[in-house]
Amino acid sequence: MDLKQYVTIVPDFPKPGIQFKDITTIMDKGEVYKYATDQIVQYAREKEIDIVVGPEARGFIIGCPVAYALGVGFAPVRKEGKLPREVVRVEYGLEYGKDVLTMHKDAIKPGQRVLITDDLLATGGTIEATIKLVEQLGGVVAGIAFLIELTYLEGRKKLEGYDVLALMQF
Ligand code: AMP
Repeated sequence: MDLKQYVTIVPDFPKPGIQFKDITTIMDKGEVYKYATDQIVQYAREKEIDIVVGPEARGFIIGCPVAYALGVGFAPVRKEGKLPREVVRVEYGLEYGKDVLTMHKDAIKPGQRVLITDDLLATGGTIEATIKLVEQLGGVVAGIAFLIELTYLEGRKKLEGYDVLALMQF
C-alpha cells in the first residue's frame, strides 16, 4: 500500500513556512490505519518489546494500537503538569517552540525493552527528549518507529546508534 497518498499536506500550519503533514487522513480509514500499524508491529515483533512509549498526542495514536497488537503496555510521555504522580522531566526544543516532557517515575522498570513511537520525525528534539526520559528510568530503547520522517531536517542524526523505522520519507 502506498501510504503517502493518504497523508494530507497542509501549507503554512500552524505557522507560515511549515508544511504540516496531517495523518488524520490515515487514521480515519480503517484499512489504511491498520496497514500502517501492522508495519510497525512487524518491525517490533523481533525486538522483544516489554512496553511501548509515545509522546502526546500523536505518539499515542501510533503507539497504543501497536502495544495492543504486541500484548504489552503503553506508557505516555506528556507535557509538564499533565501527569498526576511523581515524574521525571526533560526540556527540549521543537521545530516550532520549546517545551518540557515528563513521564511517571514508575512507568518503566529498569532493564525493560522499550519501543518508542511517534507520528513524525522532524528535528528529532521530541524523540531525543523521550529517549532521555526512558533511559533515566533505566529502560533500554530497542526501537523507534515513525509514520513519517522529514529527511531534510536531519532528525536521524540525533538518533544515531538507535534502531529507527520510518514508514514514509518526505
Ligand atoms: P521534532 O521534535 O522536531 O522531531 O518534532 C516532532 C513533533 O512535532 C512530532 O511529534 C510531530 O507531531 C510534530 N511536527 C513537527 N513538524 C511537523 C510537520 N511538518 N507536520 C506535522 N507534524 C509536525
